[in-house]
Amino acid sequence: MNRRTVFIKDPINKHSIRVLMAAYEKAFPDDDYFVTDFKTAYDFVSDNDIAIFSSASRSIDKNIELSEALKLKSKNIISMIGGPHASARPKSLVESFDIVATGEGELLIEKVINDIHNDNINYSIIDGEKVQNLDDFHVFPRKKVSLGPIELIRGCISKCTYCQTPKLFPGALRYRSVDFIANEIEFALGRKGYAEARFIAPDASSYYYDKGVNLEAIENLLSTVRGLIKDNGKIFFGTFPSELDPAGVTKELIDLMVRYCDNKLIVIGLQSASDKMQRIMKRRSGIKETEKAIELFLDNKFEIVVDLIFGLPHEDEFTYQETLKFIDKWYGKITIHAHPYDPLPGSLWENEISTTVPENLIKKMKSLQGIGKVFGNTV
Ligand code: SF4
Repeated sequence: MNRRTVFIKDPINKHSIRVLMAAYEKAFPDDDYFVTDFKTAYDFVSDNDIAIFSSASRSIDKNIELSEALKLKSKNIISMIGGPHASARPKSLVESFDIVATGEGELLIEKVINDIHNDNINYSIIDGEKVQNLDDFHVFPRKKVSLGPIELIRGCISKCTYCQTPKLFPGALRYRSVDFIANEIEFALGRKGYAEARFIAPDASSYYYDKGVNLEAIENLLSTVRGLIKDNGKIFFGTFPSELDPAGVTKELIDLMVRYCDNKLIVIGLQSASDKMQRIMKRRSGIKETEKAIELFLDNKFEIVVDLIFGLPHEDEFTYQETLKFIDKWYGKITIHAHPYDPLPGSLWENEISTTVPENLIKKMKSLQGIGKVFGNTV
């Protein structure tokens, strides 16, 4: 090939770049490719290269800046961007990138790279095709080894109004099979002699969801991975970079986690501790289910991190006070991860305006921050 393909990786996009690298290896098994990071990209990418970007909304500015700098460096560099922000706001990026790709990238990358090499680019925005079987693509690239969490589930049962996932991955949930995951774990073990099995899933309890939590499928997954890893690694389930929806938490699920997994920390997304807000946000779980899940995990000596978003649209004095009461009630037992509300492009609430967080709630959060029970920011 007469043009080099260069993937531009940073800590935020590393999972999606890994997916694209694996798809590239499948499409062009005889071709070499390159990976650089934001610090080195300007010097590394040279005349005639294809620079591949992937960006979430929170890091889009630095991606735009780098692409524009590369275009100034050489008109023959072709820059292409995909990822959540490109999928939500493709038109806003056409001035800064030659090609803007929306949706899923695994099948798209082969077409676009071929079109570039055949001098056949007659589009500035192109839509990715949905991958029907996630097992068709490795999670870990083989030529340039890059290990990390394994995407377990694509899509989400819930349709939370502040989240882009339902629009990004509509339709039925898709899963990676246990056999596929076993193969990736064996590869990681072969390379390093140990493996850290972490999973990407909006809700890990939805694995092969079948009108309810599928404990059999989850046990098959966890027992298979444990059988491979034995003591040469760790298994993390329902924790970063995954979450657990309280609706899926039962004593039986926790028993499986205790038996097979290593994590003693669980991340639960709550966002607002008001039932009214849970309904407005179209979340699956109410406060009762969430508190029941917290109790079950605490009984089993797990540490709990609860995500809360401050400044959500439609919060009022009453709903904010419910969140304050929740924080008081669970003081000392859980840790709060605070996020300021930032409307997410591609979400149902992308145009909604944030609300003002009451002074007494901000004060409470600051006082807990001082003793390590809160991290993150409220504003
Ligand atoms: S916030 Fe989490 S649970 Fe809600 S739709 Fe997004 S990924 Fe699903």
